[in-house]
Amino acid sequence: MIAIRYQCHHCAIETISNSRTPWTHCPSCDCPLGFDWLALSGDEHYQRWLAQRALQAQQGVTAANDAYMQSLADADACAKADPTNIAQLGRLLRLATDHCIDAFPFLYPHRTFRDSAYRQLQVAYGGWSLLQQRIDAELKTLALQIGEFAHDFALENPLATLEPLAQAAQAQSRRLFHLSTLSEAPAEPENRPAQARQRLLLTFALGGYLPHLSSDYHRPILALIHGQDHLVAEDESPRDDERRRKPKTPA
Ligand SMILES: [Zn+2]
Repeated sequence: MIAIRYQCHHCAIETISNSRTPWTHCPSCDCPLGFDWLALSGDEHYQRWLAQRALQAQQGVTAANDAYMQSLADADACAKADPTNIAQLGRLLRLATDHCIDAFPFLYPHRTFRDSAYRQLQVAYGGWSLLQQRIDAELKTLALQIGEFAHDFALENPLATLEPLAQAAQAQSRRLFHLSTLSEAPAEPENRPAQARQRLLLTFALGGYLPHLSSDYHRPILALIHGQDHLVAEDESPRDDERRRKPKTPA
């Protein structure tokens, strides 16, 4: 497992991902710093949730996912019917984000589910990001490019698509950051600086491929996401790993 180095933008404390918990939090202020798809794929709570979701799908119970897909479809219909009604489109995309949190809870920091004001920050910022991708010409072009790269993805040569995808996602992050500095944009939930937002955006744009690829590709893809300087060499791995391992709870 390759560990990732983070520095908290609130308190400047450095920490290293532990490869077992999907979210890495700052040990001092608890700010969520980064997300690890490989840790998620090995997480027993996540595996239980996947199994439960598969069972619910068999039984036709797919409420959270259906609500999310329906709100995205409503937003697309609204944009088509009246492209000038930005307020209504924004409202529908905030609703889509709220449903997305329930449909994919593992992608959101734990605080989202125990602090309703924080959840509202996630909803406002997530809805705003989705809106920009539908009304800003540069972001629309980048979203189309990213869709094409994802479509061309081939398991036997993943870097051929993931390298240009990473560049497009970096451009997307720079443009979103620029737009977020304009006064009407809602605050990013953690007030992350530009580089931290870029790492998180790339984590979600590229990281989902990691569990499906051979470990030979993990280091180059993590370097695309975080930058080579933030990857911890194997012999630098934290020594207190075993000590911090949580005792196994009975199932
Ligand atoms: Zn901190």
